[in-house]
Amino acid sequence: MSTFPATRLRRLRRTGALRKLVGETRLDLSDVVMPLFVSPEALANEALPAMSRHTVDGLVREVDRFASSGVPAVLLFGIPEAKDDEGSGAWIDDGIVQQALRALREHFPELLLLTDVCLCEYTAHGHCGVLSGGEVDNDATLDLLARTSISHVEAGADAVCPSDMMDGRVGAIRQALDDGGHEQTPIVAYSAKYASAFYGPFRDAADSAPAFGDRRGYQMDPANVREALRECELDLAEGADVIMVKPALPYLDVVRAVRERFPVPVAAYNVSGEYGMIKAAAARGWLDERQAALESLTAIKRAGADIVVTYWARDLAAWL
Ligand SMILES: [Zn+2]
Repeated sequence: MSTFPATRLRRLRRTGALRKLVGETRLDLSDVVMPLFVSPEALANEALPAMSRHTVDGLVREVDRFASSGVPAVLLFGIPEAKDDEGSGAWIDDGIVQQALRALREHFPELLLLTDVCLCEYTAHGHCGVLSGGEVDNDATLDLLARTSISHVEAGADAVCPSDMMDGRVGAIRQALDDGGHEQTPIVAYSAKYASAFYGPFRDAADSAPAFGDRRGYQMDPANVREALRECELDLAEGADVIMVKPALPYLDVVRAVRERFPVPVAAYNVSGEYGMIKAAAARGWLDERQAALESLTAIKRAGADIVVTYWARDLAAWL
């Protein structure tokens, strides 16, 4: 192998065109998903604009601002009018996400509509499943997640994304979708979802903080990567079409491990805390938001993600 001076790696770094020509990772607008929050009442968030809540009409206006720019997909989260112990707002026919789906489907026939499937925004206690004896009851929750998925698909969802981390939920949802004639609807499973401190701004946006305890009894321990591979393996066996790692930046090794192990599309969720840290630092003049965001998103793709869920999806359209 030749060395200096015959080999000079700087030759290919000299100009932007050269760097682009030999770039190994490409950030592409067609791979990103924009998360959005829909609620009966709008709630603007000036510091973190992507965490704002929109009414159904406001959501249509918001999507109209970026849908034509090439962002292919949105991921919907709902904040219901009222909450109860079973999270019924998640699956009722006129639920907030169902209303949003119908409105978006009508206005944007080409846009991919993904929905988050969980109960935590809808339960009075804020946990991701129903409770029995002060604990989240795994098996009793499965049927409600399946009902929610069916309801979303009937209202126009193109794919459902279970984020609850109950065991067996992908299989329960796959079965329910197939029984309901929706065998063509894919499941994007939040397979390796960690109990992370980086969800902070999301909990405010989605009003989904648990009223007691935490989610460590069902979300994954940040210390584990082999367990993440088991979660992915089980979700795939149950019928998941896409597997997801969440959060993204503190878990790039997990994204890489999942990428190398499974020949399926891998998504990574660049979560609200990752977005918020850069926003906050940029507001203080410590970081350049655009550069820091592009670097972060490129790193997530370089680690092996095919799809990146990011609060910068809308901005990316202008940046790329
Ligand atoms: Zn949840």
